Amino acid sequence: MISFLTLRQKIFLGIIAILFLLNIFAWQEVIVLAGPQYLKVNFLDVGQGDSIFIQTPDRHQILIDGGPDSLVLGKLQKSMPLWDRSLNVVILTHPDSDHLAGLLYVLQKYKIDYFVWTGIVRDGQQYQKLVELLQLAQKRGTKIIQSQLGQKIMSGGVVISTLNPIEAIEGKYFKDSSNESGIVSYLSFGKNSFLFTADIGLKTEKMLISNSSNLNAEVLKVGHHGSKYSTSEEFLQAVSPNLAVISVGKDNFYGHPTQEVLQRLQNFGINTFRTDQDGDIQIISDGNNIKVIE
Ligand SMILES: [Zn+2]
Repeated sequence: MISFLTLRQKIFLGIIAILFLLNIFAWQEVIVLAGPQYLKVNFLDVGQGDSIFIQTPDRHQILIDGGPDSLVLGKLQKSMPLWDRSLNVVILTHPDSDHLAGLLYVLQKYKIDYFVWTGIVRDGQQYQKLVELLQLAQKRGTKIIQSQLGQKIMSGGVVISTLNPIEAIEGKYFKDSSNESGIVSYLSFGKNSFLFTADIGLKTEKMLISNSSNLNAEVLKVGHHGSKYSTSEEFLQAVSPNLAVISVGKDNFYGHPTQEVLQRLQNFGINTFRTDQDGDIQIISDGNNIKVIE
């Protein structure tokens, strides 16, 4: 076939081949310049409450809860580029003050692409404010998503799946505690995995053990700030984490974390970090290994 080509055609094909090779090299160079990409999970020290900032290797930003006050704003500023005033996903696990109040500030300062919550009904001014702010955000383009069992957030190699609540509870009124209704998320990235348990107690832990095929996670966000009514031995056995993080405020009124939970974690030989002692706890993963930066 080649023998039928004219000299001009041969030169032309030669140039194409050289361009092709050059292109390959150029492309490889871009890959090298991009360098290794990391998942960053930052358990923010926001006092007595929860707030977890996640940056995926694709640089998508996800915030789970906002802690009890405006402290989260300063923490986000430190974690994000100066000019950045948007978040891709915000998850409100349950509308209790120590998870919700900070998000009321975040909703006013940041443009949010997706706001995920259960849509349950509660009393109180903060809850009213949340509903108002969500309506405003929706008008500005935020998609308000009701959490659903099996719902997935995907970014590059990161997958965040919803394990709780197991049924739609939108519009359901919770008078006293809404802890068991909290959104539980399982994050996997390559060989690394994280379990975020909000404030769930023994009842939901039991349900998760019987409902979930795989709860095994390398990092466990300890449920309900280390309350003794969470983090049972059975649950620790099912999750079998190497590392646990307790999000808790210094000298808090509730006596969190409880001696019982600290003892259980110790019995299982789990390396435990606490925001009241260690400050912000950032965990970096390349999909194979994790590294803790205090
Ligand atoms: Zn809480």
